Amino acid sequence: MHKDIEKILVDEQSVLERTKELANQINSDYAHVDNIMIVSILKGAFMFTSDLVKRLNVPHIVDFMALSTYGAESKASGEVRVIMDLRHPVQNQHVLIVEDILDTGLTLQFLERILQTRNVASLKKCVLAQKEGKENNLINIDYLGFTIPDVWVVGCGLDYADKHRTLPYIGELKPSVYL
Ligand code: 5GP
Repeated sequence: MHKDIEKILVDEQSVLERTKELANQINSDYAHVDNIMIVSILKGAFMFTSDLVKRLNVPHIVDFMALSTYGAESKASGEVRVIMDLRHPVQNQHVLIVEDILDTGLTLQFLERILQTRNVASLKKCVLAQKEGKENNLINIDYLGFTIPDVWVVGCGLDYADKHRTLPYIGELKPSVYL
C-alpha cells in the first residue's frame, strides 16, 4: 500500500469484479439498441471507463468530456464549466455517462441537464463510487459500483493534485497529505 494511503476501501479485485458485473448488466439492458454512446468524464473516469468498455459486447462508441467545477462558492450553485466537449453529436443516441465519483452530485446533475438539451434518445448513468450520507443519494444512478464513506479517495482514476490517480484500488487518502 502507498504511504499516503490511510486504508484501502475497495481492493483491485473487487473493483474488477464489480466492473464486470456492471458491464454484464449493461450488455443485457442495451441488448436491443444499435449503439451506445459512452460519455466518459475526464480525467477521473478514464480507468473505470477502460475496464468497463473492454467488457461490453453491445456496439458502442466512447467519447470524452472534461468538466471542471468553479471555486467552492460557485459549486454550491451547481456551476460547472465544460473544458472539452464531445466530438460526436449525441442527438437520438442512447447515452451512458460514465463518471468516477458522486460527492455533492452537482457535476453529474449539470451534465445531465446539458445532454438532455441535445435531444438524446435515452440517458443513463454509470458511476464507480458514491459517497454515503450526502445529498447526492437522492440522484438515481442506473449502474453503481460502490457506496463509500464520505472521505477523500484516490486511485482508479481519482487523484489528489493529479497524484495517486493510477493506483489500482480505491484508497482513503491520509488527511496529513492535504491538511
Ligand atoms: P460533485 O459534483 O459530485 O460534488 O463532485 C464530483 C467531482 O468531484 C468528481 O467527478 C471528482 O472529480 C471530484 N471528487 C469528489 N470527491 C472526490 C474524492 O473523494 N476524490 C477525488 N479524487 N475526487 C473527488
